Amino acid sequence: PSSKRIALVTGGNKGVGLETCRQLASKGIRVVLTARNEARGLEAVDGIRRAGGGAADVFFHQLDVTDPSSAARLAEFVRDQFGRLDILINNAGISGVDRDPVLVAAIKDQVDGMDVNQRVEWMRENSKETYDEAKQCMRTNYYGAKFVTEALLPLLQLSSSGRIVNVSSGFGLLRNFNSEELRKEFDDIENLTEKRLEELLDLFLEDFKANLVEAHGWPTGGSSAYKVAKAALNAYTRILAKKYPTLRINCLTPGYVKSDMSMHMGVLTLEEGARNPVKVALLPDDGPTGAYFDLNGQASF
Ligand code: NDP
Repeated sequence: PSSKRIALVTGGNKGVGLETCRQLASKGIRVVLTARNEARGLEAVDGIRRAGGGAADVFFHQLDVTDPSSAARLAEFVRDQFGRLDILINNAGISGVDRDPVLVAAIKDQVDGMDVNQRVEWMRENSKETYDEAKQCMRTNYYGAKFVTEALLPLLQLSSSGRIVNVSSGFGLLRNFNSEELRKEFDDIENLTEKRLEELLDLFLEDFKANLVEAHGWPTGGSSAYKVAKAALNAYTRILAKKYPTLRINCLTPGYVKSDMSMHMGVLTLEEGARNPVKVALLPDDGPTGAYFDLNGQASF
């Protein structure tokens, strides 16, 4: 078996995920770039190889994070090819809102003239929250990370230095909840179980349908489902870290990054946005686990 570390990234075909693959490969790490769409994924791998002058050690495998059978096929591939996995980066995510593609295309040229507050305000005004998007957001941003993690955990446990890095968001911080009770539940890692966490996600979706998001103290101000899904991803990170003390399992925000998800309104380049995921993935073996990292380092949930 190779002495190189092996990292796997979900949603690796573009944005922060692609740039994370590129940076890891440039540090001599073997990378498995995954994408739900095979053509887009293969093109991304080609791009990294061309830019790396043939030195980049990058493999491709298809993965739709919302499909457990796709995750199972991926795990089989990794097991057969490499026999273990050292680093899993759960990066794939969606915004959970509906946007008019015509408006999105039109705003691209004006972004540079807008300050951050104007950008955030434009985003909020032009992002429609729908029940279907909210549901898909839970399925991708929380359950997706969970399906992939569960499929790959046996291979991470075969590593002498197994890590899981969950790409979360400042939107998932508990200060975004208006209900003290909900904040406590998401923060009560001594007692919180995956089952309870998932009951809470179901409750959110019921409240969304019944128009009770604000009344029941869920996050408001746009992107409610995204905020709840990322809060759940953070809580899941802490639950897993407790359950698997020999692994290092952490979550982070990449910062506000120019990507398709942010409609290119972010303030960081992709190169800057991938730094935190890469940094957390490569923390020393005796580093923290069950922690959240913002751009200044470890921070509270
Ligand atoms: P992009 O929209 O540029 O990229 C998202 C990636 O996720 C794409 O590769 C997309 O694939 C993939 N993806 C979506 N759904 C699935 C799925 N079901 N299975 C597999 N892959 C999927 O967004 P970013 O690069 O900005 O986002 C990366 C991560 O960073 C996300 O988790 C996001 O929440 C987080 N983040 C981003 C911030 C920002 O400012 N941009 C701020 C805070 C957090 P496809 O091309 O096929 O759609």
